[in-house]
Amino acid sequence: MLGKTKYIDLKTMSEYIKKIGVENLMEKLIPYMEEDYSNWDSFAKIPRPTHHSPVGVNELMPVGNDKLFTCKYVNGHPDNPKDNLLTVVAIGLLADVQSGYPMMLTEMTLLTAIRTAANSVMAARYLARKNSKKMALIGNGCQSEFQAIAFHKMLGIDEINCYDVDEKATEKLIDNLSYLNDLKVNKCSSTKEACKGVDIITTVTADKKFAVILTKDMIEKGVHINCVGGDCPGKTELESDILFMGDVYVEFEPQSRIEGEIQHMSEDFKVTEIAEVIKTKKRIERKDDDITIFDSVGFALEDFSILRLIYDLVEDEEIGTEEVLVPTLEDPKNLYSLLK
Ligand code: NAD
Repeated sequence: MLGKTKYIDLKTMSEYIKKIGVENLMEKLIPYMEEDYSNWDSFAKIPRPTHHSPVGVNELMPVGNDKLFTCKYVNGHPDNPKDNLLTVVAIGLLADVQSGYPMMLTEMTLLTAIRTAANSVMAARYLARKNSKKMALIGNGCQSEFQAIAFHKMLGIDEINCYDVDEKATEKLIDNLSYLNDLKVNKCSSTKEACKGVDIITTVTADKKFAVILTKDMIEKGVHINCVGGDCPGKTELESDILFMGDVYVEFEPQSRIEGEIQHMSEDFKVTEIAEVIKTKKRIERKDDDITIFDSVGFALEDFSILRLIYDLVEDEEIGTEEVLVPTLEDPKNLYSLLK
């Protein structure tokens, strides 16, 4: 109902996700994402507005179509864990386009991890070698479990090689995944070791500088590279030469040119927006030896899809609260009446 805003706090959201299951939520999300990516041209899109500081970035991620508008506030502060704070936290807003009224305000730190992992798997379903079984997971922080669960449950990955410069992060990841009896998780002592003999490499590291996580010599024939961690100007994970080894796919090209792995490539370096692939509803044609690269920086449309899904799921349920955040007035021109 317009005038009331569905409000979902972190505790409510985490209990709700536990109830329905993280992989079930991701599975429900993929058709929403595919539908939204297929309607790519109907969205008003801009590269996200950012506020950079020496320690991180504060960002807004807006997008809308003729019915709904969404906006996420999110940050990226790689040194935050030293102060016992998360690198990435977020809140999200869903609003009605017709009236402009807010419909839902929600925690979005968990939803970001879920939509990012679902987005990675969705892209891999179109781009990666069929029957991919083994993945390297480089960077074992907050996003990593979500990536591991998504690739295991939704793409059939049954073995994961993990590596993080922080050994404790890898141990935490292995412990959190230990309930998955049919997933083999190996702790590796370097990125190079982790990338040996895998079908997919997922990089999800946090660093506010050009950090070379993957070098050319680590890339074997036929691999699909899912880069998630390089998502800011000055923050990349791949040695540039790798970008010449295979076809590169991005979310929204104007934003990826600023923030993605391709930020230091010339304007004529060819990339394909993933929406172009999704619209075909078919996997790309690739040989088993071909290399594919998904340069994912995170785009507002993925937030739009998960906010739309969550609203559909909770609209008529007693999940969260209905808060009065905007006025309902007898005379809609008399805002001052609230103060009399
Ligand atoms: P986090 O701080 O919880 O984890 C990052 C991990 O990377 C840490 O454990 C750190 O030790 C590790 N790391 C740093 N340098 C490394 C290196 N050289 N080799 C191996 N490991 C290394 O952060 P997070 O929430 O997991 O996010 C990770 C990254 O993903 C961030 O950069 C974040 O901005 C990005 N991210 C992208 C998207 C997207 O849509 N593309 C969404 C969410 C987060």
